[in-house]
Amino acid sequence: MSEPIQENNQREEKQASFSVFYACMRCGTKVSQSELTRLPEIKCICGFRVFTKVRPPVVKTIKAF
Ligand SMILES: [Zn+2]
Repeated sequence: MSEPIQENNQREEKQASFSVFYACMRCGTKVSQSELTRLPEIKCICGFRVFTKVRPPVVKTIKAF
């Protein structure tokens, strides 16, 4: 069983050690990284184990169509 979150963390930990959230791919519940690391296992309240990293909103001018 692979755990993509942990693999990503090893690579991005330096630049994203704060304000990192993960969203459950099934129910969309967001969990902060610090909360996840406190858990005995990476698992959503719904029981799903796959999360995607949610980057904090970047303040940047983006032209809308
Ligand atoms: Zn969930």
